[in-house]
Amino acid sequence: MGNDILTVVVPCYNEEEVLPETVKELGGILQGLVAEKKVAANSKLLFVDDGSHDKTWPLIQKYEQEFGYVTGIKFSRNYGHQNALVAGLTVASKHSDIMITIDADLQDDVNAINEMVDQYHAGYDVVYGVRNNRDTDSAFKRRTALAFYSLMGKLGVELVPNSADYRLMSKRAVEALLKMKEQNLFLRGMVPLVGFPTAKVYYARKERFAGESKYPLKKMIKFAVNGITSFSTAPIKLVMGLGLFIVMVGIIFFIYSLISKLTGHVVTGWTSLITSIWVLGGVQLICLSVIGEYVGKVFIEVKHRPRFIIEQDDFSKLFN
Ligand code: UDP
Ligand code: MG
Repeated sequence: MGNDILTVVVPCYNEEEVLPETVKELGGILQGLVAEKKVAANSKLLFVDDGSHDKTWPLIQKYEQEFGYVTGIKFSRNYGHQNALVAGLTVASKHSDIMITIDADLQDDVNAINEMVDQYHAGYDVVYGVRNNRDTDSAFKRRTALAFYSLMGKLGVELVPNSADYRLMSKRAVEALLKMKEQNLFLRGMVPLVGFPTAKVYYARKERFAGESKYPLKKMIKFAVNGITSFSTAPIKLVMGLGLFIVMVGIIFFIYSLISKLTGHVVTGWTSLITSIWVLGGVQLICLSVIGEYVGKVFIEVKHRPRFIIEQDDFSKLFN
């Protein structure tokens, strides 16, 4: 049981302010698990530097020197949180049996890791960290998140409500996840698709204790739109419904004008004409934009660009 190697994957983008505390806290948890023989002694913390501009990478390297259990990889530029997670999992899965992903800012309670590992030993391959309160998030963030989950549910995308990217995965779950080769990553939608026995661990989400959120509104909206268009063709069906509705309205208009003409009423024509021109023009634009969204996706997918390029990989070196 204690022979399973745990690697905790921590994406970091300009996190110099939080890293010392993060290393301390996660290190404490990791060492505790090793001492209790719940994980192997060569378990690691794997920091993924997502092209930070601050001292994040030098700090990671300093900690590598200081603590045997700290290691890191460094991106050549900023690729984003989701890519950082996949990079960490890709590298870690070769040499670990258990992988846990957690944000560097420790908003997610590190103590839940113990419970996650217990659940793993109880036979679960995927253990979701689920927030049982969001009091520390702004009312705006809470409401938008809730609306997003309900919309995704209606669109038929299975998500675990109030869980983000804090979760444990077994080696085989990670390997299955990594078989999904898509470029547009929306991990919290992809992980449930992997299957395997799953469990949940509840915790209270805290404030970011230092530094600022690396997810401004613009990135959040981009992330949400990506989640919808990567997992659902509902918008296309919506447009289809809208198109049918408009056609019906057009037919009614046609019958109305025909009757008006036959009964000898003067049809001025201009109002209905100009209205339909505007309405149809608007509808066509909406349709075009939706189709464009999907065409854009195809465009990105067919390019088969690497999802990330790792500049340095200290983790793998440890095993050569
Ligand atoms: N992050 C990253 N690349 C980015 C943005 C964020 O690796 O481009 C990391 C960040 O360092 C943190 C995690 O993703 O560990 C979550 O970011 P943050 O805490 O800023 O998001 P929030 O909690 O505000 O949603
Ligand atoms: Mg955060």
